[in-house]
Amino acid sequence: MKETEKISFPESLKLNLRAFRVMYKASPKLVLSYILHSFFTAAFVYVPIRFSALVISALEAGDPPEKIRLLVILTILGTAAGGVISAFLSRFRSVYMDEGAYPVIDKIWQEKALSMDFAVADDPKTQALMTEIRQFTNGGGYGIWRFLRLLESFTKAVASTLGGIVLTVTMFTSRVTDPKTAVFLNHPLVTLLAAAAFILIALLTQKIAVWAEEYWYKNADEHSAGNRLFGHFGFMGMSRDRALDMRIYNEYPFCERWIGDKTQIFSSKGPFAILSRGRVGRMMALSAALSMILTGFVTAYVGLKALGGAFGIGLVTQYTASAVMLFVGLSESAGILGNMKANAFFLKKNFDYIDLPDPMYQGTLTIEKRRDRNYEIEFKDVSFKYPGADTFALKNVSFRFRIGQRLAIVGENGSGKTTFIKLLARLYDPTEGEILLNGIDIRKYDYKEYLSVFSVVFQDFSLPALKLGEVVASSSDYDRKRAEDALERAGFSERLSELPSGLDTFIGKDYDVSGVDFSGGEKQKIAIARAIYRDAPFMILDEPTAALDPKAEAEVYRRFDEIAEDRTTVFISHRLSSCRFCDEIAVFSEGKIIQNGTHESLLSDAGGKYAALWNAQAQWYTE
Ligand code: ADP
Repeated sequence: MKETEKISFPESLKLNLRAFRVMYKASPKLVLSYILHSFFTAAFVYVPIRFSALVISALEAGDPPEKIRLLVILTILGTAAGGVISAFLSRFRSVYMDEGAYPVIDKIWQEKALSMDFAVADDPKTQALMTEIRQFTNGGGYGIWRFLRLLESFTKAVASTLGGIVLTVTMFTSRVTDPKTAVFLNHPLVTLLAAAAFILIALLTQKIAVWAEEYWYKNADEHSAGNRLFGHFGFMGMSRDRALDMRIYNEYPFCERWIGDKTQIFSSKGPFAILSRGRVGRMMALSAALSMILTGFVTAYVGLKALGGAFGIGLVTQYTASAVMLFVGLSESAGILGNMKANAFFLKKNFDYIDLPDPMYQGTLTIEKRRDRNYEIEFKDVSFKYPGADTFALKNVSFRFRIGQRLAIVGENGSGKTTFIKLLARLYDPTEGEILLNGIDIRKYDYKEYLSVFSVVFQDFSLPALKLGEVVASSSDYDRKRAEDALERAGFSERLSELPSGLDTFIGKDYDVSGVDFSGGEKQKIAIARAIYRDAPFMILDEPTAALDPKAEAEVYRRFDEIAEDRTTVFISHRLSSCRFCDEIAVFSEGKIIQNGTHESLLSDAGGKYAALWNAQAQWYTE
């Protein structure tokens, strides 16, 4: 984390201002609640100080009791009103801070993550950046989180300084009247020197505290690493996903050996504890001592002036309290600016992510909604290289999907099947060649519109832990009959009838503890139902039966007509036996389609890849 030094002050200012704009745009109430609360709370401290001074001065001057009574009442009312307003603002702030800030910041990340080009999201560099951001955000709250905290402290310090100036100016301007006592204090140069000395001590106090604080920033990497390890290994045995493996393989002892000394980072022997006891501890002590020295100097200055008759006892209390707060506020403002500069390094990483370019061209053409599902897609001499890769994952692939056709894609691992689907769904654009939808390059269509042409069941699909019916429909506002129908076509109706809450059953227990933990096969059926509900003209099924037992698998194939209807369907499978019902089979090898045709025609080419794959697998079947 040595790079903190590289960020200049103007750059840090820019980054912090941008953080302010981003947060203000995301939630004006959140930012306002912070600023109002901290400004008012800090400024309000001066109200009782000023009123008490007025009361004491009135007593000292022997003012009439009515005036004193009035002042006392005003003091009480002012303090009470301030307390109420402060409590109100504090509530306002805590609502937005504790409940609001997390979702607001999360939304900024999620929106960026989901709107960026898939190629950018898929890039290992993007993943690494996101991991880094997650680690320092969770680890030390650096970045946007820390900015919010610093904004709060900064507002407080500024309010303290401003209030202090108002109540302290006359301390410097009041003149000593007794010629025998410290009359030198009237000299303008002495006044200037005193003010400069106070500011200097206050700044030094702060500077030392910031130096101490910087040690934490410098150790942010270790901090993040400790948190990351603890996040993965902590509570391991209690996690349902891992409990079985941990028991069977008795993993805890050896995991503990790996991480034992690493999670010790936060223990009394860890680097943070050593710093706290050593260098950082000494700096903090020095900083605290200097702050007491400042109080001592201010008290001496005020006392001397009062002795010389510059002002009465009432103002002595006012000046000693407010002058110290003024200088502390001033130095804190400077210190926070220093902290903001250190945090700017993390803000920069945040914005590096937000600014990731999305180079993929987004077209504007809309897609004609056709009931007849006559959407024809054609790959024309398409080649593709993954960003940064040296070799082509697809090479000169030409292929025309016939409308309503059931196409199976087969081939060994790494032969390009998934890449072909990724290009079809425009997760990536071809490096060479083009893909046409109804004769027009797919890049010319509006991306969301183009995606609406597809229903996909990915091999590693995921379902949110929400209500079954809503998940199938991908919406809270849905047609229950249609959802039931989709589940039935996916072979889920028997299981559905057993569920006491039916479509309102929660999937898993993450959102609602009454939810049901469905088996892998059941979840796969739900994922298929979701694809059916979407009712897109193209259906892509990537190993859709991988999690099903042979009986359930056979059932899916039996129902395939109901699932696919007259859609153009692409079916990827390792098991050639499951592709026989398709109209056409395309065989991929080393990024090329080397054979295509029906099962029978491909099998009749005895020397071909398909026959070889088929024969290799056939020995496993007893049919
Ligand atoms: P299949 O689905 O047939 O197993 P893939 O389409 O996943 O094959 O892979 C085709 C080739 O592209 C393989 O050589 C694979 O290593 C490579 N590949 C796949 N994904 C990426 C990626 N994100 N970055 C770089 N290379 C990749």
